[in-house]
Amino acid sequence: MTTEFEYVGLPYRILFGQGTLAKLNAEVSRLSRSRVLLLTAGDLPGLGDQVERLLGPLCVARFDGATLHTPVTVTEEALGQLRASGADCVVAVGGGSTTGLSKALAACTGIDQIILPTTYAGSEVTPVLGETAGGRKTTRSSPSILPETVIYDVELSRGLPVPIAVTSAVNALAHAVEALYSAQANPIVDGWALDAVSGIGKGLSRLAGEPADLGVRSDLLRGAWLAGMCLASVGMGLHHKLCHVLGGSFGLPHAITHTVILPHVMSYNASATPDVMARIGAALNVPDAASGVFDLIKQADGPTSLRELGFGFDDLGKVADEVTASPYPNPKPLTRDGILGLLSQAWYGVRPA
Ligand code: NAD
Repeated sequence: MTTEFEYVGLPYRILFGQGTLAKLNAEVSRLSRSRVLLLTAGDLPGLGDQVERLLGPLCVARFDGATLHTPVTVTEEALGQLRASGADCVVAVGGGSTTGLSKALAACTGIDQIILPTTYAGSEVTPVLGETAGGRKTTRSSPSILPETVIYDVELSRGLPVPIAVTSAVNALAHAVEALYSAQANPIVDGWALDAVSGIGKGLSRLAGEPADLGVRSDLLRGAWLAGMCLASVGMGLHHKLCHVLGGSFGLPHAITHTVILPHVMSYNASATPDVMARIGAALNVPDAASGVFDLIKQADGPTSLRELGFGFDDLGKVADEVTASPYPNPKPLTRDGILGLLSQAWYGVRPA
C-alpha cells in the first residue's frame, strides 16, 4: 500500500552543541546586523549578563521583562525600547516566555531574531505566536514569526532546575508523541519524533541522579529541538487540546499540566494506535508506552496527579464538556464519558495499566 503525505520544510539556521554561545557575535555579523536588543526574563539576570558581556558594543539595549504567555502590554514596552535604541536585530536568551516576546517583536516589525533557548518548550522552531490581552489568549501563525537563527548551547540549559527541567522535557515529549499519530504524520517527522522520544526518555531517566551531566542535558535539549520541529510541522491531538483547556480556562501551569496528562492520553489512544505505541515503547525501551512514560515521570519526581495541583474534582465534567465541544483531530473518537474517565485517572494519578 502506498502512503500519501505532504511535507513542507521550514527555513532557519540551527547551531547545536556545547559552548556554541561563543558563535553568537559571528551569527549577528552573518545576518549583516550590528545593533542588538537583548531580551531575557526578570528571573534570569545572570544569563542576561553573560550574553551582554559577550556581545560587548554590539548590544545597544536590553529588556529583562519577558513574561509567561506574552502579554501585549509587555510587547509594547519592548517595542518602545526597540525603536528608541535603533536596534537592527534581537537576541533572546531564556525559555518559551522570552522566545514568545522575541517572536512578538518580529511579528510587529519583521526584525531578525537569534534565539538562545534554555528550556525544552520548543517554541523557537515554530511559526506560532501565542499572546494575551485582557486575560484572553490568541494565536497567530506566519513564517515571518520564525527566528533566522537558533543557537542551542547545552551549557545554557545546564542550570535549569530539575523540577522545571522534568516538566519542560515532558512538555517536549508530548509534541513528539502526538506527532506520531497526527493526521499529517509523515516519514520525516516520524523520524524526528522517535529520535526525540528516545533522547528525552534517556535524559529523563538520568536527570534526577545526574542533573549537571552535560550528556543528560544534551539528550534533553536535542530531543526538545526535534520535538519542537514536530510541533511546527504537524497538527496535535487530544493531549494538546486537554492542556489548552486546563491551562486556558482553568489557569493550570503549562508544562506541569502536560506532565500529568500525557500518560493518560497515551493510554486512552493506545487501542486506536497500537503501532505508534509499540514504536514509542521500543524507543523508550519499555513494554508499554503509557505506563513507561508514567514511570519515567514518577522516577524523576515529576507531578503525576491533577489532585496535587489543587484542581477540583467537580470541575472535571466542565473540562470534558469543553474538550468534546470543539475537539482537535484525534485517532480515537472522543466521548464525554471517555474523557471523563481519562481525567479521573489523571486526577487520582493512577498508573496506566
Ligand atoms: P518560561 O520561559 O517561563 O520558563 C520557565 C521557568 O524556567 C521560568 O521561571 C524561567 O525563568 C526559568 N528558566 C528558564 N531557563 C532557565 C535557566 N537556564 N536556569 C534557571 N531557570 C531558568 O516557560 P517555558 O516553559 O520555557 O515556556 C512556556 C511558554 O512558552 C508559554 O507561554 C507557552 O505558551 C509558550 N510556548 C509556545 C510555543 C509556540 O510554539 N508558540 C511552544 C511551546 C511553548
